[in-house]
Formats: sequence, structure tokens, C-alpha cells
Amino acid sequence: MTAPTLTGVCPECETDLTVPPIVEGETLSCPECLLTLRVEDIRDGQLTLQMIEVQLRDWGQ
Ligand SMILES: [Zn+2]
Repeated sequence: MTAPTLTGVCPECETDLTVPPIVEGETLSCPECLLTLRVEDIRDGQLTLQMIEVQLRDWGQ
């Protein structure tokens, strides 16, 4: 009996991601580049991920 997991690829660093079942609209973090990714679509266990622009505190310079 295999655990129902979903797979996807990080659009930024192309790391293969395996995640527990989630639904469209949820977010997850890439363990490699630490970007926040949102699930745009799920098809046949494949996730379509889109990176979310994180609000960076870029006031320094
Ligand atoms: Zn990544």
C-alpha cells in the first residue's frame, strides 16, 4: 500500500518535490531554494506550481 503523494517540480530550482496530498491554492515551501510555491493545478498526481513573490523587506539600500 503506497501513500498517496503528489509530485511537482520547483519552477525556480527544478528540484523534484514530493508532498502529501494538498489541494489547489495551498502553498508549500521548496526545501532547496526556500521559495513559497502555490499549487495552481493538480493533474494525475502532478502539481503545477507557481512561485509566489514574497514580500521582501528591501528597504536597506
Ligand atoms: Zn526550489
